[in-house]
Formats: sequence, C-alpha cells, structure tokens
Amino acid sequence: MRRSQSGFLVKRVLFFRSSEQKYHCDAVVVACFDHRFDLVLRKFLKRIRVVNPDPIIVAGGAKSLASPEHEADRDFLIDQVGKSIRLHGTDRVVLMLHADCGAYGGHGVFKGDENAEVIHHRNELRRAYSVLMGKFPHLAVECYFVDFAGVWKLDSFGSPEALADAATSAASVTQL
Ligand SMILES: [Zn+2]
Repeated sequence: MRRSQSGFLVKRVLFFRSSEQKYHCDAVVVACFDHRFDLVLRKFLKRIRVVNPDPIIVAGGAKSLASPEHEADRDFLIDQVGKSIRLHGTDRVVLMLHADCGAYGGHGVFKGDENAEVIHHRNELRRAYSVLMGKFPHLAVECYFVDFAGVWKLDSFGSPEALADAATSAASVTQL
C-alpha cells in the first residue's frame, strides 16, 4: 500500500514486470476498435512484420483522417502520429478501415452492395493517405481494408498520377 502525493491510497492489484527498454516503433497502426477484427488485426501485423506497433485504436480507424465527425478528431490523430514519430522514430503507418463499420453506419448504408462498400472505403483510404502524406511527406503509408474474409491492400499510391488512376480503377485492391 502506498500513499500518493494527492493523498490517495494506491494498491497493487497485479504484479507484472514490464520491459523498461526504449523501442523503435515498426509502424503506427490506425484502426477501429471493433473487436470482431481484433484477432485478424493481430495476425495481420505479424504477417507484415510489425512487432512493436504504436496502435491508435479509435472508432472508425482511418475515418478520423478521411472524414472525421469533428475537425478536432483529425487534428488529434495527426498529433498522435507526430508524437509516435518523435518519441519512437516511426517511419511507417498502417491505415485501416473495415467492413460493416458502425462509424460509417454499417453494412446497411450500402444496402448489401459489397462492391459499393469497398469502393467507398477505398476512396476514404485514399483521402486518409493524402491527408497524412500532406503532413508527413517522408512517411511510408500503407492502406488496408479488412472484411470477414481477410485483409485487402490498397495499391497504386506511388505517384499523383497513380492516385488519379486509382480513383477511376475498380481493381486496385489485393487480398493478403
Ligand atoms: Zn468500426
């Protein structure tokens, strides 16, 4: 039992030794807190060799960059990425959106049209990508869409031309 400066008593409820070692962050991971995708997210990070992530887990994930409910949400997220860069030398960001996301109104908004949902989220990821690259041009930003069958990578981000191409191409997702 210990008494803090403010006079509150604090009691250890779990004994666990955590590493005090500083670390280099492999990637900031911006994803939704929807627990249905928790397991696939962990497996996926392992697959892309992200061992020490700085996770930013908020409702909607990359939506806060692409189409935030409040402008302050976007600022908050950008600020968090900036802190990860500064504190943990981060140079890679993984942006994620997922199927049936409540922050977008779920499946219902797309009236069961999976293709429309993918196209919508692809555009959102593209917007999130541009916002982040506008702030941190030296970052490597990767965009992924998760559904109930796996994880899909959004390609064609190499150049502004590719970006424009991708806007009109329907086939710019690859499953991982
Ligand atoms: Zn969600």
